[in-house]
Parts: sequence; C-alpha cells; structure tokens
Amino acid sequence: AKVMILGGGGREHAIAWKLAQSAEVAEVYCVPGNPGTAAEAKVHNLALTPTNADQVVAAAHALGVALVVVGPEAPLVAGVGDALRRAGIPVFGPNAAGAMLEGSKAHAKDFMKRHGIPTARYGHFTERGPALDYLRAHPLPVVIKADGLAAGKGVVVAVEHAEAEAAVHRFLQWGPIVIEEFLEGEEASFIAIVADGQVLPLAGSQDHKRLLDGDQGPNTGGMGAYSPTPNLDTATSERVLREVMRPAAQGLMADRTPYRGFLYAGLMIGPAGVKVLEFNCRLGDPETQPLMMRLRSDLYTLLLTAARGDPLPKTLGWDSRTALCVVLAAAGYPEHPRADDPILGLSAAHEDAVKIFHAGTATRDDTIITAGGRVLGVTALGDSLAMARQRAYAAVADIHWPGLQHRRDIGHRGLHRT
Ligand code: ATP
Repeated sequence: AKVMILGGGGREHAIAWKLAQSAEVAEVYCVPGNPGTAAEAKVHNLALTPTNADQVVAAAHALGVALVVVGPEAPLVAGVGDALRRAGIPVFGPNAAGAMLEGSKAHAKDFMKRHGIPTARYGHFTERGPALDYLRAHPLPVVIKADGLAAGKGVVVAVEHAEAEAAVHRFLQWGPIVIEEFLEGEEASFIAIVADGQVLPLAGSQDHKRLLDGDQGPNTGGMGAYSPTPNLDTATSERVLREVMRPAAQGLMADRTPYRGFLYAGLMIGPAGVKVLEFNCRLGDPETQPLMMRLRSDLYTLLLTAARGDPLPKTLGWDSRTALCVVLAAAGYPEHPRADDPILGLSAAHEDAVKIFHAGTATRDDTIITAGGRVLGVTALGDSLAMARQRAYAAVADIHWPGLQHRRDIGHRGLHRT
C-alpha cells in the first residue's frame, strides 16, 4: 500500500521511518518531508503545503494512497482531516471539531469540566475588566494562556501580579485568554490512540520543554524526550486511563465529535494527583522519536485500523529498552533560529541502536544545512536510561555547526528517580 504523511519535522521523519518498515507498505509520501525522510528507503517527498486541503486531497487521489497520517496540529485545525474524509480517503488524525481540543484552550478547559476530567481551576475571558478582577482575587503564582495555537509561546507562569497583568494585556490583543491555577509536580506525556471511543495507550514519555539545563530558560517546542518514564508507572498509567483518557474518548462521543487519531494529554503529576495541563490532537514531536524507536507493533496496520474505526488491539508491543532523544537546535533558537549553517559529522558511523531524525534541515548543493529551530533529534536505545543517554550523547558529539545548542541533561528527572 501507499501511505501519505503530512508534515516535515522530526516527528514525521520518525513516523515515516517506522511506516516504511511495515511489510504492508510499498511507498511512503511525505508532504513536504525533509532531507532525512528523502534518504529513507521507500520514502519520497512531495513539495506541497500540508495545510492546503485541495492540494492534499488531489495528491492523495492521484497517488491512490490507502491512508493519510497527519503529523502536526495545523492541518488538523484547518480541516484537512475533514476534507480527506469527505473525499473517502482513510485518515489518521481528527476532524477540525476534534482538533479544537488543541486549537482552543478555553474549549479544552470547558470540555474537561463538562466530562469531569481533572485539570487546574480556571476562568476564560475576552474582556480586560473581568480578567483583571479574576486575577486580583487569584493567589500567586498564576498561569495566563492565550487561547489559540501559539507554538509554545502563549503561556506565562507569573510569580508577580505585575507580570500577570502584563500577560493579560498582551494576550488579550490576540484573542481570548485562560487564567488558571498553578500546579505543582512533575510533567509527563500520556499519548493514546483514540478511535470512536476506544482508547489504546502508547508507552509513557517525558519531554523537556525548557531550552537550558536544569529546566531553565525559555519554553521551546521540546529539547529532548525519553520513554519509558518512571513517573508513569503502571499504577499511575491506569489512573490516567481511568480519570483522563477514557472520559475524554467517551466525552468526544457524547459531544458528537467522532475522533480518530492520537490524543496527547500533557499531565502534571503531583500532590494534587494527576491533572491535565493541555490536550494535543497529535503526537509530541520530541516524544515521537523515542516512541517510534521502541514500538514493535506494525504502525501501518495500527493506524489504518484506527482510521477505519475498526476494533483496536488491546495492547501494543514495545522494546523493553529505554529510548532517549536529544534535540540539536539552531543558533538563536527559540526566538530567532539561524538558518544556512552547514552541518558537519552527519555521516559519522553509528550503531544500529542510534538513529538521527531530521527536523529543520535542508539540502544545498551536496551539503545538509540548518533550516529551522529544532534541526536534528539524535535518538538511541539502551538497556537502561543511563545507557540510552550515554549512547545518544556519544552520537551527538560527532555533530557540529556554528552555534549548535543542545541540553546536556536530557533524562535527568528519570535518572534521579532510579
Ligand atoms: P505546547 O508547546 O506543549 O503545546 P502550550 O503552549 O500548548 O504548550 P501548555 O502545555 O498549556 O502550553 O503549557 C506550557 C508549559 O507551561 C507546560 O508544559 C508547563 O510547564 C507550564 N504550565 C502550563 N500550565 C501550567 C499550570 N497550570 N501549572 C504549572 N505549570 C503550567
């Protein structure tokens, strides 16, 4: 069969790499993909725009693809899933109505409240007066969020009132805002395949959102991830399924929003129990890379089953080893990532247990150059978290470009626990 993937980041490279391993898959088409996907066997890049529904539907028809897998949120929020379904093409990824769980934080909060899913107490506002009144009565710290998609830049955790007020003013210029209670604890990513009320959990993982070691510096799209994570042990995972994922899948059905795709719950696990920080309607980009390294089940069969709304398997097969991904970011990331730096050392030989996924790269003449914020995801398997980390960093050491940034402590919370 032929499969199409929308997107061109590290997540999509990892998905394409995994799909291409399926005996059922003859060809994989990435829209638009990147130099990493282009180098994989059976994988081809198509220079189309993933948010352009007409282009995507026309190409999927012309190629006769059996399945479209949507990587990022933007095409889902823009209704590309709806357009493909209308055209009769099986698609893994929700319709725009389902993607609103990520596209609007106010909608997601109301959804959680309606369906009894634990989350931080909140209010949402479109006017300055009521927002500032709510803020005045709120203890510190307090969290201010822009309602819509902001690529990680729409959240301020304020420890002072002046800072909170400034964020309220700034975000209200763009649209509605959410003001919510600050939650203590440790974060984890819980991702499941959801299909018409069915829930099939993936292995747990943990992202590192801050730019600098020790979880300091600005928020980013993610600087690295690993799976499994000790803070999602069996008991906690069961609890997340019971309190979050199943109520969410059933809530979508009750709201008449059929949903077939990944549902990602960003969790805070702490003294107040398990609480949902956010829902995403797709895989996390850094988390996907370790997850695909560990997944043993056939990804194509799995996603096609879900896309058709057929009964999902009860469990998935996972490599028992730990996988860890270190993101290599461009100079100036996240504010002003610099492009066009030639990447050296990419062809250094590495073990089978190491895989370098491309994200923001491009080809110029015969060289691979930087072309985005997060450039590469160096991902390794190891018998323990410590060994996966050692192997990943050994491969990182071969790669160079001017101004390359990466964290040196990916996995530190897990290592601390074990
Ligand atoms: P993403 O880039 O993951 O899509 P986002 O912009 O959608 O992020 P959130 O995930 O809601 O925003 O918040 C970003 C980060 O801010 C969280 O990962 C968490 O570290 C912090 N955060 C958000 N809400 C809270 C809260 N209520 N209490 C404490 N920290 C929070």
